[in-house]
Amino acid sequence: MDLRRYIADIPDFPRPGIVFKDITPLFLDRAALRYVVDRFAQLARELRADFVLAAEARGFVLGGAIAAAADAGFVLARKPGKLPRETESVEYQLEYGVDALEMHADALAGGARVLVHDDLLATGGTASALCELVERKGAEVVACAFVIELAFLGGRARLAGRRVESLVVFD
Ligand code: IMP
Repeated sequence: MDLRRYIADIPDFPRPGIVFKDITPLFLDRAALRYVVDRFAQLARELRADFVLAAEARGFVLGGAIAAAADAGFVLARKPGKLPRETESVEYQLEYGVDALEMHADALAGGARVLVHDDLLATGGTASALCELVERKGAEVVACAFVIELAFLGGRARLAGRRVESLVVFD
């Protein structure tokens, strides 16, 4: 399936000079949504993933669906202060400044097999932070699965050593 037709380019969002890739048309289309969930659920099953880990907010949309379809659990990574129990936290670099992601400290244990998911891979800061949360627990990242990869930003290099699967790559 050609997914590019479900991805819109939005110039000057969220700031002038940035062309934002809008994935919400893909979420609206039932066949495209089903296709993406099936592809990643198949990957998760092949790799015997116990969990899918994804970051808010767009990562949750497919992450939960992939987990359910793959018969895996779902782990939430959220912005600081949103999760109610003890958390594991990781900071990561943004273009300007730092941000952080948290997951419940007891969500993953050593030996767990985890599929990391996000809607889009840009510089790789978010995804490498997700991988760090997994690996700190002694769990294993079996693959990182993205709908969109902006290859010109080099995110794949920051995920070196992990399997990376993207459905649509923009060079
Ligand atoms: P990274 O951390 O630089 O790889 O940026 C990836 C994160 O930023 C993901 O969580 C995306 O949801 C978000 N993101 C960055 N650029 C875009 C875009 O053009 N469209 C949608 N999300 C984006």
